[in-house]
Amino acid sequence: MENKAFIYSSKAPSNEQMTKFKAFLKKKYNKDINVTWLYSTAFKMGFRLVYQNDIFDYNLLDKLAKFEQDIKSVDVDDQNIIPLIKEKIDGFNYQVKARQVGKVLSVMDGVVKIEGLKEATYGEIIHFESGVKGMVQFLNQDYISCILFSSDSEVHQGDKAYRTLRTAGIMVGEEFLGRVVDPLGNAIDGLGEIRTDKYYEIEREAPSIIDRRSVYRPLETGILTIDSMFPIGRGQRELIIGDRQTGKTAIALDAILNQKGKGVICIYVAIGQKASSVALLVENLRKRGALDYTIVVAAFASDPSSILYIAPYAATSLGEYFMENGKDVLIVYDDLSKHAIAYRTISLLLGRAPGREAYPGDVFYLHSRLLERSSQLNDKLGGGSMTALPIVETQASDVSAYIPTNIISITDGQIFLESDMFNSGQRPAINIGLSVSRVGGDAQTKAVKKASGTLRLDLSQYREMEVFTQFASDLDDVTKNLLVYGKGLMEILKQGQYCPLKQYEEVIVLVTALNHLFINVDIKHIKDCEMKLLAHFNQNESLLCESLENNKTLDEATKVSILRVAKEFIQNYLKGLNDEHKGN
Ligand code: ATP
Ligand code: MG
Repeated sequence: MENKAFIYSSKAPSNEQMTKFKAFLKKKYNKDINVTWLYSTAFKMGFRLVYQNDIFDYNLLDKLAKFEQDIKSVDVDDQNIIPLIKEKIDGFNYQVKARQVGKVLSVMDGVVKIEGLKEATYGEIIHFESGVKGMVQFLNQDYISCILFSSDSEVHQGDKAYRTLRTAGIMVGEEFLGRVVDPLGNAIDGLGEIRTDKYYEIEREAPSIIDRRSVYRPLETGILTIDSMFPIGRGQRELIIGDRQTGKTAIALDAILNQKGKGVICIYVAIGQKASSVALLVENLRKRGALDYTIVVAAFASDPSSILYIAPYAATSLGEYFMENGKDVLIVYDDLSKHAIAYRTISLLLGRAPGREAYPGDVFYLHSRLLERSSQLNDKLGGGSMTALPIVETQASDVSAYIPTNIISITDGQIFLESDMFNSGQRPAINIGLSVSRVGGDAQTKAVKKASGTLRLDLSQYREMEVFTQFASDLDDVTKNLLVYGKGLMEILKQGQYCPLKQYEEVIVLVTALNHLFINVDIKHIKDCEMKLLAHFNQNESLLCESLENNKTLDEATKVSILRVAKEFIQNYLKGLNDEHKGN
């Protein structure tokens, strides 16, 4: 074997140091060994000495940290404090320890088996000779398995592998706002490197019960159906579920756009999407002025499964930084079905036993430990929050498949989107019977809560009646009225993309609609009438709008004024239509 050792450091060692290294090696191995210096920026405050299979790390920072600990452990009240400290200082002699180098046994589909790194821990980052990185995912008596964060063509059988003693993590900080990054924290928007000094591990413990308080503030989405019937509170986890192309992303995107000026930081995590769709979404955010308060974390369909797998965890760590600093965060995982598939791929490659639908047994834990990190912190911890909107894609509306049922049971409610409704033009295509929000009601503002009143009940009555009367020809007046009213409500709930409503606008629409004021307006004019009504309020009733917005309550007097103004407006609107009709 070659009789050569290497020293890695950012500064060339002096002659004196070189002599010391040689003496050290001679003592250790009982022979003269040549030492060569190699430049490396990885060891700014120390060096690494490598001889054959042994590594000796010397790091000044570690040494100082240990020294600090030693000094802190001295009892201040002790009479002999000075001699004690002196003893510690005398003992300040850093011992370099030998560390093993691993050898790559095999590389297959992004999974690397390594022998000789027995002490490596689960989740630790491993460096390979060629410079690529991987993460330990499996520990065995004879070898460890590691998933690679890049293409596996750069690691070969027999390559050396080194421990880093660091678990996978991501840099965090305000600097990430407005940026698009990959799950390792590298900028991919071409706007230059993001420099911060704060490092969070990607897998962090969720806040404990004591650290939390119940969800108590609304997260306004600006989507009438959601805010009125399935309200979301800050710190809640609400699932958006539906087949492909049913407007799932659109709902999440609208929710992000509606946070403008509300002090909520948004994180959009794309998992397994095409780069072009992510680029389009980012452009949309930028165009509508929402990118300033948003971070996009993207793992593309073409990325290795390992990158897809860590994406939501890394993004959540980014969010936690803000939450721990007292801010409110909204995080969208688009989507977790692809995440589960990436995890299944990794697990199968690692040789774990496949379970139901070939997912490994711990696939529930995959998402529970992720979503548990979204919470409303108590005031002692700054009162920050993280609201999660995970998205799940179903096949043929089957919510009882494995992954959907798992995630439904982890979240605090779901918004269920239906293809049929979407295709028939009822957008957002929210199925009112199957959707639910289990905690948001407490967080809903009083005004919206009061204004929504019987909406859900009215709609379910309408739907029942609709099915019932589908084939009936002669209906009595009460039923006919109910059908017209219900149809009108459904029309009111239609809402295009990028047109979020403000809270007071939602209150006005709800009060007007639920008091049957739109009943005489023809179905094809309802949406137009609603928009013009809101414009009318904004223009002529700014005092009323302001008081609704500021007080967040709906008293009887306000309700009466809304009804008075709306009634008059709708009468004029109908008259206008009539005149137009006659004019033609
Ligand atoms: P995928 O399964 O491909 O991710 P998705 O469920 O996320 O799809 P979107 O991409 O959000 O669906 O929406 C599908 C299409 O429908 C898009 O072109 C979008 O612009 C349109 N769309 C979504 N919501 C609405 C809406 N409320 N009004 C009008 N068009 C909408
Ligand atoms: Mg989508």
